[in-house]
Amino acid sequence: MDAYEKIYQLYHLIKTKTAADLPGPYKVGVDLGTADVVLVVTDESGNPVAGSMRWASVVKDGLVVDFRGAMVIVEKLKAEVEAIMGITLDKGATAIPPGTVGRNALACGHVIAGAGLEPVCQVDEPVAAAKALDISHGIVVDIGGGTTGIAVLKNGELVFTADEPTGGTHVSLVLAGAYKIPFEEAEILKRDPARHRKIMPVILPVIEKMATVVKNMLAGYDEFNEYPVYVVGGTAYLQGFETEFGKAFGRKVHVPPHPLLVTPLGIAMFG
Ligand code: ATP
Repeated sequence: MDAYEKIYQLYHLIKTKTAADLPGPYKVGVDLGTADVVLVVTDESGNPVAGSMRWASVVKDGLVVDFRGAMVIVEKLKAEVEAIMGITLDKGATAIPPGTVGRNALACGHVIAGAGLEPVCQVDEPVAAAKALDISHGIVVDIGGGTTGIAVLKNGELVFTADEPTGGTHVSLVLAGAYKIPFEEAEILKRDPARHRKIMPVILPVIEKMATVVKNMLAGYDEFNEYPVYVVGGTAYLQGFETEFGKAFGRKVHVPPHPLLVTPLGIAMFG
């Protein structure tokens, strides 16, 4: 299965609440995000076996702010996937935005440990995304709910990472302000593809700001100018995002299918 087939397969398994008939041992990854929590199981080769996700507000700007809430959600996702697969999951990997340090960096591990998964590894989110996309040479931009992180890979080695607190939450805040609606309503409006064409003019400045943030992160690194650029994270679902982000960034960018699932799939591959 190539990288995109794996992503489509994971989406299908989550949507149908089913498991792929693949033999173990299995790897588990948990993505504790600003907007959602995703648990993914893969086989040894990184083929998706099962997964589950929930919208949640337990993380802010990449940091766990509701420890107990996060733990309860991971417990539920774990129980759901265990029921689907008919086995017990006992360990897993987590990820953090690049540059997260100290106790904040430890929090994700504590959350999954509290939910019954021994933490085996903690990776940078865009590094996990690069793994899922099977990229050994290129720039991965991960635009989540609260943060925009990048990872640059050269010959399979991670040579640069950076992170900024700008993400889909800011898109929703702008929509909430423009339409004078609560944030939660703006989130729902934003996730409706039928409304994307209409909201694009309102949110375009935020997308342009994100592209500028990434451009600034890479300023002075001319050697990366020819590297392919992949954008993942839920914000990249916005119709027209690929074109508008690319225009503002000044380079062609690629958005894989189901961009929200790329990082969680990659985290599991480290499990
Ligand atoms: P972070 O990595 O910053 O902690 P996260 O892991 O929660 O956040 P993702 O799950 O990649 O980030 O993306 C969540 C963001 O994507 C949210 O802002 C959410 O509103 C947005 N999003 C999700 N689905 C869609 C959609 N269909 N259209 C537009 N935006 C979407």
